[in-house]
Amino acid sequence: MSVPARAEKPILLSQRGVSTAPRILPVDAAPDVIELAPDCRVPILWKRSSRARRLSLRIDALRQAVTVTLPGPLTPQDAMPFLKTQRHWITKRLAALHNAPAFLAGRTIPVEGIPHLIVHQPAARSGVWIEAQQIFVSGTEEFIGRRVRDFLRNHARTVLGQELRAQAQATGLRPTRLDIRDTSSRWGSCSSSGRIMLSWRLIMAPASVRHYLIAHELAHLRHMNHGPAFWTLVDQLTPHRHTAERWLKHHGSALLGAR
Ligand SMILES: [Zn+2]
Repeated sequence: MSVPARAEKPILLSQRGVSTAPRILPVDAAPDVIELAPDCRVPILWKRSSRARRLSLRIDALRQAVTVTLPGPLTPQDAMPFLKTQRHWITKRLAALHNAPAFLAGRTIPVEGIPHLIVHQPAARSGVWIEAQQIFVSGTEEFIGRRVRDFLRNHARTVLGQELRAQAQATGLRPTRLDIRDTSSRWGSCSSSGRIMLSWRLIMAPASVRHYLIAHELAHLRHMNHGPAFWTLVDQLTPHRHTAERWLKHHGSALLGAR
């Protein structure tokens, strides 16, 4: 069987939506790890999609695993030879995760593309706030990570919501609703019912990347695919497509893996 496969770039935008995303498969007798080097084995998560036209790989940042989506009739055994040719790509992507920012005191994380130092202020009264490129966090040390994440998620809800409304107004492409989620392998998606999902982690990326991703999902309200008409519309909606894709290719998986 010929496998028209290529490794998917780590810009993980679904063609359809969360509700129709492929489920993790219980695949009998499918290998559950791939050996990248002696003593270095990485879990494989198999998914099947009736709509996928090619075999694709993505890195699941939180689970430190490789997700393989099988189109129609392809079996894991069919996919393994291709997977083995992608060991270098998988190794490189997983290595990038080790540079992922950590939500800890003394570490620096990007907010809207600008580095911010996390500073613990145990005695302060107000919870978490930003001042002069620093994120101040009150309370006990063990909860710093959770408080910073909650803070960024709320900030994301505000900023992404405003930006989505502004772009929707300017373009006439109106989603039925916006969900802000914590996703480990994709930045956004758009369902056939017009719901847009964006990862709160997008708030760490520069404004141009945010603009592109929102334009990308809005364009799916008109074209539920990645065909030429879709990309023409994306280019009409945002000037940032190519720089944003390059940026996501280099920095995206680290932000999806930040914890
Ligand atoms: Zn898309």
